[in-house]
Amino acid sequence: MPDARPNILFIMSDDHASHAISAYGSRINTTPHIDRLARDGMRFNNCFCTNSICTPSRASILTGTYNHVNGVTTLSTHMDGRLQTFPKLLQAEGYQTAVIGKWHLGHGGNHDPTGFDHWNVLPGQGLYHNPEMIDADGTRVHEGYVTDLITDMSLNWLKERDPEKPFCMLTHHKAPHRSWEPDEKHAHMYDDEDIPIPPTFDDDYANRSRAASEARMRIDRDLTDEDLKEPVPEGLSAEEEKRWKYQRYIKDYLRCIASIDDNIGRLLDYLDAEGLTDNTIVVYTSDQGFFLGDHGWYDKRFMYEESLRMPFLIRYPKEIAAGSVNDDMILNVDFPCTFLEYAGISVPDDMQGTSFRSLLSGNTPDDWQTSMYYRYWMHGAHHNVHAHYGIRTRKHKLIFYYGDGLGQEGATEDIQPPEWELFDLDKDPYELRNVYDDSNYANVVTTLRAELRSLQEKLGDEPYPGEI
Ligand code: CA
Repeated sequence: MPDARPNILFIMSDDHASHAISAYGSRINTTPHIDRLARDGMRFNNCFCTNSICTPSRASILTGTYNHVNGVTTLSTHMDGRLQTFPKLLQAEGYQTAVIGKWHLGHGGNHDPTGFDHWNVLPGQGLYHNPEMIDADGTRVHEGYVTDLITDMSLNWLKERDPEKPFCMLTHHKAPHRSWEPDEKHAHMYDDEDIPIPPTFDDDYANRSRAASEARMRIDRDLTDEDLKEPVPEGLSAEEEKRWKYQRYIKDYLRCIASIDDNIGRLLDYLDAEGLTDNTIVVYTSDQGFFLGDHGWYDKRFMYEESLRMPFLIRYPKEIAAGSVNDDMILNVDFPCTFLEYAGISVPDDMQGTSFRSLLSGNTPDDWQTSMYYRYWMHGAHHNVHAHYGIRTRKHKLIFYYGDGLGQEGATEDIQPPEWELFDLDKDPYELRNVYDDSNYANVVTTLRAELRSLQEKLGDEPYPGEI
């Protein structure tokens, strides 16, 4: 009797914000192949990461635990390969497993991928063109463009697998991570048009924390020559120069995404051609969101909406209604629990997420989460984002910038004065007005601070000792 458990194809890119996906209403690009997953499956509008930075989010997705538990708090804290992960549990129950592409959780010692029948990954961030890749046999250079190569390798693995057993394949794109290097095929997209700027492009950071104004990820000031790839034209006003830099940045970012989109089409076409579509769960997500000129920034790290929100599209025709949309809150730590449940494997008690399989069949449990805990540990460092933790509910967001690296690897040692921010997301969806000290919100502050503390207790994290 053939194994009827679903296959899992988990496609994750790096730094692809949901507002650069047409299924999410992008104003700046179209992504027809990614949109196929929304058309044939479910779009989640409120999927959030618990720490908006590459390595930590990847560790949470694999382990189902928060970073204070899995120890992967910053880019410099590599994952211990002995930790329990969902691919390991699937493999033990007879799944064929593979990870291809970006790993970014360390190499050597206990840091190479574990729980995979096959792995072939980029070292660190990896290169866009002719990248080195590492597998169990060593390192070699592959000629070509990284997004095409990762897809070629994913297709090859699918073709060579044992068709009698279910598979779980993690296809992890490097793109569209900085330094946003497109391939030849897409290099001239958008040449003859201007990409619209976002509504908060000229944010002056007034009425907010010092953390916002002190971050070093501004389009007008912090993009490097390497990012821009062309000299800034002479004779531009400051405003013109900022807009010129935005166009340089966003066009290359979107060109990288266009290649991802084409390559996702190749994978989906393969599933169709092989009759695998009905029994394969396909996910498209990214390790976090990204600022696309929002607040005048590129990059991520902040608990603000654009970087907190992850795209999450999922297709599984057997259980998910085509074209469905869900507004419930799901988190990166919930992904592995959901995959395990679909595979008929009970979710271990030490995973901190919750399976959202019931949401996918259209039923939201009465006690489904309506708040989430976030913590950014990599204080300072190259983008000078102050360490913070906070809580987001459906209507509000409370953030405490404790501004201390706490000795975490990769964090800066200087300590910043602590400060709070509160946003009313209904009235101020772009988070431009901190109402923490507004007396009209005194009750909200009291309630949210208590809820923040109870989430920390539940998840086993400690409040900052100097919390004000
Ligand atoms: Ca990332």
